[in-house]
Amino acid sequence: MAFDVQKIREDFPILQRKVNGYPLVYLDNAATTQKPQVVIDSIVDYYSNYNANIHRGVHSLSQEATDAFESARQKIQKHFNAKNPYEIIFTSGTTHGINMIASGFSGFIGKEDEIIVSAMEHHSNIVPWQMLCEKTGATLKVLPMNKEGVLLLSEYDKLLSEKTKLVFVNHISNALGTINPIEEIIFKAHKKGAAVLIDGAQACAHIIPDLQKLDVDFYVTSAHKMCGPTGIGMLYGKEKWLNKFPPYQGGGEMIKEVTFKKTTYADLPHKFEAGTPNIVGGIAFGVAVDYLNSVGFEAIKTYEEDLLNFATHKLLEIEGLKIFGTSTEKTSVISFNIKGIHAYDIGTIVDKLGIAVRTGHHCAQPIMDFYNIPGTVRASFAFYNTKEEVIKLVEAVEKAKMMLS
Ligand SMILES: *Cc1c(COP(=O)(O)O)cnc(C)c1O
Repeated sequence: MAFDVQKIREDFPILQRKVNGYPLVYLDNAATTQKPQVVIDSIVDYYSNYNANIHRGVHSLSQEATDAFESARQKIQKHFNAKNPYEIIFTSGTTHGINMIASGFSGFIGKEDEIIVSAMEHHSNIVPWQMLCEKTGATLKVLPMNKEGVLLLSEYDKLLSEKTKLVFVNHISNALGTINPIEEIIFKAHKKGAAVLIDGAQACAHIIPDLQKLDVDFYVTSAHKMCGPTGIGMLYGKEKWLNKFPPYQGGGEMIKEVTFKKTTYADLPHKFEAGTPNIVGGIAFGVAVDYLNSVGFEAIKTYEEDLLNFATHKLLEIEGLKIFGTSTEKTSVISFNIKGIHAYDIGTIVDKLGIAVRTGHHCAQPIMDFYNIPGTVRASFAFYNTKEEVIKLVEAVEKAKMMLS
């Protein structure tokens, strides 16, 4: 199937708008992606035509809503190749999923145990483990990276031991774009008996992780970074782990039987979905997955690689511009600075020209400390971005550089 970016752009109503008098150039896809019309329509359709609470009612509307929500779960299960639909837990997003796992592990971690996190984690993948270590007395170890933004696997071998209980790494770094070698990380952790959680928030708009093939213990992601709505995400956990964990929250939906003496919990996945879930979010998440598959992940990969190479090449023509994150295995994220100019000032000037980039530490302060910089400008591309937009970015950055130096 031919990849027609102009046709794809028509699926995204927001791409038609202007910002500060200029056509929007949206290059902040690592923060959140835009939503195609089919996803927006699915939200309106739910509230207009079959809004009801799920799992409870015998009435027809409730049945329709339940069917749509549960078929979205199955769609997501198939997409990620999880073994069972009940291993897919709907969360409010990646952060929620990580906190659920940290909480689940708190009963299985002790003073002697060690947890390994990588040096390129998002804050949401660092803080819950620090909290867990404080609570349990376990030790947090950091898997270092080199200047290219590549994890040092030789150091990983030294950090791993029988004491390691958990390893946490992001699949793709949101600040650097590095695609981490998670297959090897998972394989080596398992040899020592440690479990592995992969943060896939940044990955799932670009690649399809095969959960069974990876043999990963936990994988979390957010729908809003893959063309779906905010407030919904996925926690995948192997059945054996999810059964071992106590529930995360108490409430409705997650129980089997309640008396004042004792409550028994519902089976998976409902044990972890207390209260009324984000029903419309789950349904729209499923629609987003269908949409991405209709564009095609192979086509997305080829197109984005080309865009990344083009943008890298063009940006590096600007004198004094430095890119952070230069792994050969990377996705369409470019973090950069220009010598002597503050990232924030560049971001402000390009915004005046309708271009949305992110500036700052990107929720990954340890990475900025590593490079000894306060932050970067980050341009992150999606499959609906174009080379013309890259050229607009380069021209705007050049203009900012002239104004600021
Ligand atoms: C965005 C992101 C998160 C946090 O996701 P939320 O949707 O804000 O919970 C975590 N890790 C990475 C790598 C991210 O890019």
